[in-house]
Amino acid sequence: MAELVLFWHRRDLRILDNVGLSAARARTPRVVGVFCLDSGILDRDDMAPVRVTYMMGCLQALEKQYEAVGSQLIILKAKPEEGIPRLARALNVDAVFWNQDVEPYAQARDRRVIAALQQNSIAVSTFWDQLLHAPGEILTNAGEPYTVYSPFWRNWSSKTKLEPCPTFRNAQGLTADEHAIAIEAGILPLPTAPELGFVWDAPLIVDPGEQAAKDILDYFCQNAIAEYQENRNYPAVLGTSLLSAPLKFGVIGIRTLWAATTLQLEDCRSDEVRASIQTWRQELAWREFYQHVLYAFPALADGPYRPLWQTFPWQGTDEQFEAWCTGQTGYPIVDAAMRQLNQTGWMHNRCRMIVASFLTKDLIINWQRGEKYFMQNLIDGDLAANNGGWQWSASSGMDPKPLRIFNPASQAQKFDPEAEYIREWLPELRSVDPEYLVTGKIPADQLQRTGYPQPIVDHAVQQRLFKQLYQQQKEG
Ligand SMILES: Cc1cc2nc3c(=O)[nH]c(=O)nc-3n(C[C@H](O)[C@H](O)[C@H](O)COP(=O)(O)OP(=O)(O)OC[C@H]3O[C@@H](n4cnc5c(N)ncnc54)[C@H](O)[C@@H]3O)c2cc1C
Repeated sequence: MAELVLFWHRRDLRILDNVGLSAARARTPRVVGVFCLDSGILDRDDMAPVRVTYMMGCLQALEKQYEAVGSQLIILKAKPEEGIPRLARALNVDAVFWNQDVEPYAQARDRRVIAALQQNSIAVSTFWDQLLHAPGEILTNAGEPYTVYSPFWRNWSSKTKLEPCPTFRNAQGLTADEHAIAIEAGILPLPTAPELGFVWDAPLIVDPGEQAAKDILDYFCQNAIAEYQENRNYPAVLGTSLLSAPLKFGVIGIRTLWAATTLQLEDCRSDEVRASIQTWRQELAWREFYQHVLYAFPALADGPYRPLWQTFPWQGTDEQFEAWCTGQTGYPIVDAAMRQLNQTGWMHNRCRMIVASFLTKDLIINWQRGEKYFMQNLIDGDLAANNGGWQWSASSGMDPKPLRIFNPASQAQKFDPEAEYIREWLPELRSVDPEYLVTGKIPADQLQRTGYPQPIVDHAVQQRLFKQLYQQQKEG
C-alpha cells in the first residue's frame, strides 16, 4: 500500500491552493486530513461564539470536500502534542504535514508536536501557506524585519508572487481497519459549535466553506473591487470584500486572491480602476505586515510596542467601558459601530478605527481591553491584525505618527454624511435629523423622546486631557 500522510489543518480549512496539502498529495495518494479541537484555544476567554460557529461550518464543508475526493477529514479533541502523535503512531503514518502559523501560541505548540513526533520517529514537513511571502523573506537592507509599513509594502510588492497550487481531484483515505484503529486513538464525529459551548443565533455575515469564500471573491471582483478605493471608506456601502473571516481561517488561498487581482488588472481599462485594485492589494499587504511583525516581535501579543505606553495613566471607568461595549456612549457613530459588531460579529474598518480611537483617546481606557472585546466578538478576530489595528489606533505600536486622534463628529460627517449607517444600527434615532446625528449634537427634547443617552464625555475636554497625560508621560 502507498505511504500514509496525515495533513494537519489549522488555519487552512480548504483543499484548493493549499501549499502543505498539495505537497502531501504530491508525495502520496493516501492523504488524510486531521483537525484537532484544542482546549488551549477553545477554552480561552477571548473566543467569540460567532467565530467558532463560522469555523465549525467551514470544517463541515471541508469534511464533505474530503469525501468528494475519496478521503476523510478526521477530528480529534485533545492537546495537539498528545493527540496528533498518538494518532500518527496508531496509524503508523509515514509523515505528518502542516502549514506554519505566525502566532506565538502556535509556534510553541508546533515545537512540542514536532518533538513528540520525532520521539516516535515520525517525519514532519512544514510549509508557509497563509502569506504570499513568508516571514524572513521581506527584510530591510540590513537584514532586519521591517517595523514601518510603507517600506515593507515597497519591498513586498516588488517581489514575484506564487501562482495558486495545483489542484488534485482524488486521494485515498483510511481502510476500514485503520478507521477502527483511529477511533481507538480518539477520533470523534465533528461536533457542532453549541456542542462545544458556543451559541450564535444570528445569521453569519458570510457563509462558511471554501465554495462560499470563492463566491464572495467572485462577487467582490465583479461588483466592488473597481470602486474599492472610494467606497471602502463608507460604512453604509458594501464596498469591501468581506473576506476577512475566510482569510482568518484560510478558507480561501492567498495566491488565489492575488491571481484574481492580476486578472482584474489585465482586464481593466481605467487608471481609477487600476488604482482601486492596487489599494485592495495594499490591504492584503497590511495583513502580511502585521503577521510578519508579530512573528518577529512576539511580545506585541502581550502589550505595547512603545515602552512609554506600559505605564500610561489610563483614566476611564468600568461604566464607561460598558457603555462603549454596548453602544451607549451618546456618540452615534461609535454606538452604531459597536452595535453592528454585537449584532453581526463584524465591523467596518473605518468604524474599527473610530471606536478604537474613541476608547483610547476619548475614554482614555487601555487599548488592551478593547482588543480583547474585539476578539470576544469578531468573526474575523485575528491576533496579528487585531493587535496591529489596536496598537495603530492607540499610538502604542509601530506607526511612526506619534498621536492619532479621530474626532467622531468629523469622521461621521465625512464618511456617513447622510447618517445612513448610524440610522441602520441605531433604530431609536431614525426619526432624528441626519445633521444632528453626524454632528452628535442632538437637541435635548429629541434625545429625551428617543431614550438615547447624552454623550458620556466631551470630546474636546478629553482630547486636551489625553494630550496633557501623553506629554507628562513623555517627559517621564
Ligand atoms: C482596531 C482594529 C482591529 C482590527 N481587527 C481585525 C481582526 O481581528 N481581523 C482582521 O482580519 N482584521 C482586523 N482589522 C483590519 C480590518 O478592519 C479588517 O480586516 C477589515 O475590516 C475586514 O473587512 P474586509 O474583509 O471587507 O476587508 P477588505 O477591505 O476587503 O480587505 C481585504 C483583506 O485585507 C486584510 N486587511 C484589510 N485591512 C487590514 C488592516 N488594516 N490590517 C490587517 N489586515 C487588513 C483583511 O484580511 C481583509 O479581509 C482591524 C482593524 C482595526 C483598526
